[in-house]
Amino acid sequence: MTQPGLMQPVPLQISSILKHAVRAHPRREIVSRLVDEPLWRYSYDDFARRTARAANLLKRLDVSPGDRVTTLAWNTHRHLELFYAAPGVGAVLHTANPRLSDEQIAYTINHAGSRVLFFDRSFSELVDRIRGQLPTVRGFVMLSDQERLIPGAVGAVSYETLIAGEADSLDWPEFDENAGAFLCYTSGTTGDPKGVLYSHRSVVLHAMGAGLSGAFGFSAFDVIMPCSSLYHATAWGLPFTGLLSGCKFVLPCDRMDPASLSELIGAEGVTFSGGVPTIWTMYLDHLDRTGQDTGRLQRVVIGGSAVPRAMAETFQQRHGVQVLQIWGMTEMSPLGVIATSTPAIAERGKAHENEVIWTRQGRLQFGVELKVVDEAGVELPRDGMSAGSLLVRGPWVIERYYRAGQSALGPDGWFDTGDIATLDEDGFLRITDRKKDVIKSGGEWISSIDIENIMAACPGVKTAAVVGVAHPKWEERPILVIERHEGAKLTEAEVQGFLEPRIVRWWMPDLVVFEPVPLTATGKVDKKRLRERHGEALIAAVK
Ligand code: ADP
Repeated sequence: MTQPGLMQPVPLQISSILKHAVRAHPRREIVSRLVDEPLWRYSYDDFARRTARAANLLKRLDVSPGDRVTTLAWNTHRHLELFYAAPGVGAVLHTANPRLSDEQIAYTINHAGSRVLFFDRSFSELVDRIRGQLPTVRGFVMLSDQERLIPGAVGAVSYETLIAGEADSLDWPEFDENAGAFLCYTSGTTGDPKGVLYSHRSVVLHAMGAGLSGAFGFSAFDVIMPCSSLYHATAWGLPFTGLLSGCKFVLPCDRMDPASLSELIGAEGVTFSGGVPTIWTMYLDHLDRTGQDTGRLQRVVIGGSAVPRAMAETFQQRHGVQVLQIWGMTEMSPLGVIATSTPAIAERGKAHENEVIWTRQGRLQFGVELKVVDEAGVELPRDGMSAGSLLVRGPWVIERYYRAGQSALGPDGWFDTGDIATLDEDGFLRITDRKKDVIKSGGEWISSIDIENIMAACPGVKTAAVVGVAHPKWEERPILVIERHEGAKLTEAEVQGFLEPRIVRWWMPDLVVFEPVPLTATGKVDKKRLRERHGEALIAAVK
């Protein structure tokens, strides 16, 4: 029998982050772009007061502990207020992904059984289309000021009008740290979206882990601009890690185009940002064309898809900005690993250090255990070469999906990420593919990520995607789909010439197609659609 510890059992609650932030950094700023409204700017102090008003509003709308509330909203200060208000009163915030289809959005709101729907003005038509399919939703609130409300629309009662009538303070209730706080659905590219229910405890531990100096390493001097969506795995927990560190927040709303981002980075002194690779491809191209600089930007966290080496290199060599690649998933809150160096790597020279941190997804972080196993579930050596299924375990990793009857874990209690990866002795992880995207040619694997990564460095390439399609002799062969930068005139022969010295012969794609590359609701290349579109191409060519 162990001896019980004799320390205070204070629960880890999201409201404790807010309470701390406002006491420690009352005058730190939050700046937000909005849908057709002027730039908003206020202090943590004002943020806490308005969050209390929003929490009191939820109570008035009869939202009880355990009830679900949905947002359909961009990266704005109002959305951030709801990030603290809803879990603060014990409710669960379901952050719906507006990039899903109408049908899937309605499915997630119904699956969540939400009571109230808060939505940005730009979703007014969408909400109008699906409102009849939402039997549990009793209240619709437009995230808008009164002046710009769309008259006659659903939810034609503005958030601003409603919170103005509420008290601006609240004794945040204390409850079990294992209570649900956020409900995030996976994108459902295969099957229905599945709900992942983060707890207060998992959110707070994840936020503390992400803030460590071996991870994001925030200080109160940082100015952070989350360009990952608040509705996608809580924007990688930045609303929590940033607030507990006292960072200034800059929220870009839905304006992730490079000119808008560049303007905010310059004007607000952004030191840290994060988002999926596609945003940064466009941003770097914009800097190239305009000659603009990166202002005070020091670090950019990139993940969601593999970061091309060329991107990390350009940021560092041309702009002095450090790229931190992360890997994770909705089921992991979402952080799994982050590509930061160690003395063991650094002492082998700068070239080696760059090679490692620019070509690996990241390194082991406290809080997430990783292992790679073969088809029989036997753990593979951490030698940087043995590839297998990547399994994870930890206090911010899923145990079961929302309303699922059974555990999502394997018999040994680990969660299978669906990714194929290697681990090495220094603790670095390399993803070679998603299991469902693996290309098997003549019994051997071809890594689509490796080829895409190489092609990202080829002049003229905006996005490169490699998918396996059926082949009469080799089972599957890779084809390469390329979206060119505007005005670029890259040809198939030039692409092959670029790849030839860089890959083994049998990896050479059988076909190069030039066309716009479709993206999923979470900003990844939609390989399912590409496979559907080109699935028969090689069989037809051989016939
Ligand atoms: P979705 O709903 O689209 O699955 P997630 O964010 O949960 O959204 O997707 C997680 C998956 O994204 C991971 O399992 C992995 O395949 C991929 N991924 C995330 N980060 C990286 C990265 N840095 N490199 C390669 N793949 C990544």
